[in-house]
Amino acid sequence: MIYIVGVDFSQVQSYISNSRKLSDMWAGSYIASYLSWCLANNIIGQLEERVKCGNICENCIITPTLENNLFHIIRKNEIDQETRKRLNAILELQYLYPIFPARLTFITECKEKNELKNEILDKLHECYRKLTLNNELKNYIQLLDKYKFTSHTPIEPHISVVELEEYSSIIDVCKLISGLENPKNKDFQTILFKKLKKLSEEMQVKKLKVITPEAYLDIDELVKDIDSGKIRVKDIRGYKYCEMCNKLPAITEDSEDYLCGWCLIKRKYGVYMWEKLGGFPSTSDMAWLEYKINKSLEVVQEERSIPIKKLLEIIFKVNEIKLPNFALFKLDEKEIMRRYVDYPTSYAIIKADMDSFGKLLLLEPEFIKFKDEDIQKEYTKKWKDLLPQGGDIKKIKEIEREINELVIEDLESIFRNHAIPIYIGGDDLLAIAPVEKALELAIKLRKNLLKFKTLKYNGRSIGIILSHFKYPLKISLEILERAIKYLKEVLVYKFADLEVMKDSLIVVNNERGIISEAIIPFRYIIDLDSPERNEVGSLLDVAQKIISGIRKGIYSRSLIYDLGARKEFFTSLSKVSENAVSKLIMKIMEDNKKKKDISCLEQGDYETIAKFSKIRVDDRSVIEDFIKLLGWFS
Ligand SMILES: [Zn+2]
Repeated sequence: MIYIVGVDFSQVQSYISNSRKLSDMWAGSYIASYLSWCLANNIIGQLEERVKCGNICENCIITPTLENNLFHIIRKNEIDQETRKRLNAILELQYLYPIFPARLTFITECKEKNELKNEILDKLHECYRKLTLNNELKNYIQLLDKYKFTSHTPIEPHISVVELEEYSSIIDVCKLISGLENPKNKDFQTILFKKLKKLSEEMQVKKLKVITPEAYLDIDELVKDIDSGKIRVKDIRGYKYCEMCNKLPAITEDSEDYLCGWCLIKRKYGVYMWEKLGGFPSTSDMAWLEYKINKSLEVVQEERSIPIKKLLEIIFKVNEIKLPNFALFKLDEKEIMRRYVDYPTSYAIIKADMDSFGKLLLLEPEFIKFKDEDIQKEYTKKWKDLLPQGGDIKKIKEIEREINELVIEDLESIFRNHAIPIYIGGDDLLAIAPVEKALELAIKLRKNLLKFKTLKYNGRSIGIILSHFKYPLKISLEILERAIKYLKEVLVYKFADLEVMKDSLIVVNNERGIISEAIIPFRYIIDLDSPERNEVGSLLDVAQKIISGIRKGIYSRSLIYDLGARKEFFTSLSKVSENAVSKLIMKIMEDNKKKKDISCLEQGDYETIAKFSKIRVDDRSVIEDFIKLLGWFS
């Protein structure tokens, strides 16, 4: 029998965010990425062995497209000269970027559905076993084996299967899917596309089912050993829950964290993989980064013996910043505070999600979700006409190819903005950035979509959270997760006579423990005929200009207070006259300009502010949030 299979690691989010350190987060992303790729690779290998389909077997993985997938081509050593030249220093760590999406759709053959599901699970457990570091875990390996932490994956996917009964030979299907250019294959594409829709429906239902990989573990034995005192975490008798996942009993302690078997494996993996590379940057590294770059002269005089963390070195190389000065990180905190009174304490986490990606792959995109159904239909029709011609599967493959290229764009943008990647799957992304660069990076990530034929019409929902470096990482991630969810599922903004959802930026400020947020839509108009008229990110570009004007001393800092004091007034004024808003802002800006001869904002920028001031986001006013942003980032 021939089947189409959908594998969705939907618990990946919590597996990644259950972290105490940035290196835990990296390890969580990497393990998820690796498992997904390992499974894909296994499927191809098995097909090749069974039906000798040679290199066309790869095409049976429908999503993601493997052909130009960076994670895949790096491992196959097939990276082309152009990408090599372009990514240059970034490729030094090529194996360590979690850039394979934790979702798969593929075609394979098997006798029976359930057998197929079990086979897939077995393969995943096997892939996970391969990752376990026997040497680094030698003190624990007996315990880990005993309770089955090493033999079962902590992230179990939902698996959905649909039969492709129209075909009986897998080699024929491999050939058909490898020749999408051939007009004769149109029927095949129509049939396969219908099945993909069915598969997607099944996956939606499956998602609701709770998965408990903990059931694989020998919890009975573990509990017995804890009760009898065989396992004793430090001097504590009885249970101590894992401080990373909060689900399982801890079996040991590592750098002052109590950890269960799975979280211990994750922790050790992150530490081991980065050990020889100077370690993974910490939250305080990221809070300090810009400060150190800007004060490089002062820092050079400090001790120099500490190795530079490789990821930070790459940021330096990519941006051509002189290398020698990274010693200060080893000074203890009290010493830092004594010497540098103005040291920064916050860093930013950035998350970007492609809007309605699942729908996009079913060729029913919601570039932005309109509340009005007729407008939605009209736009969908227009969009379809804009797609490259050919069958539906060809279109899907084309979108996936663009997603793979977007990964390369995003990776480059991250390093160019002094940030480090945690996870980049194309449709979603997580990165850590210095506060000073976070807004610029968010704008860039949104604009990256504009480089692609299909994706340029789509939207991206992006969230930034600013946190103190000592604030628990896990809570920051949870807040960010909720903020993005709000952006994607709840938020509605109104302009002219339209009601639109998604495609916005939300910034949550958690620097002082009091949560405050600001929301700015990325687009002002939505024009499919000439997308350049959409002015994506135009208001944020203006914000960025003002922020850099303040940082460079062109405007005095009192500008922020003068604008802030009139926030509510701007909102009421915008209801009467948008022109009055822009004139008043212009006046305040001019009053606060210290260097009169340097021009900063142009007439068009004030017009942009005026246009956006009309938009209402739920009961919020965009102009008030705009002023908040200026204060947080300048
Ligand atoms: Zn745990």
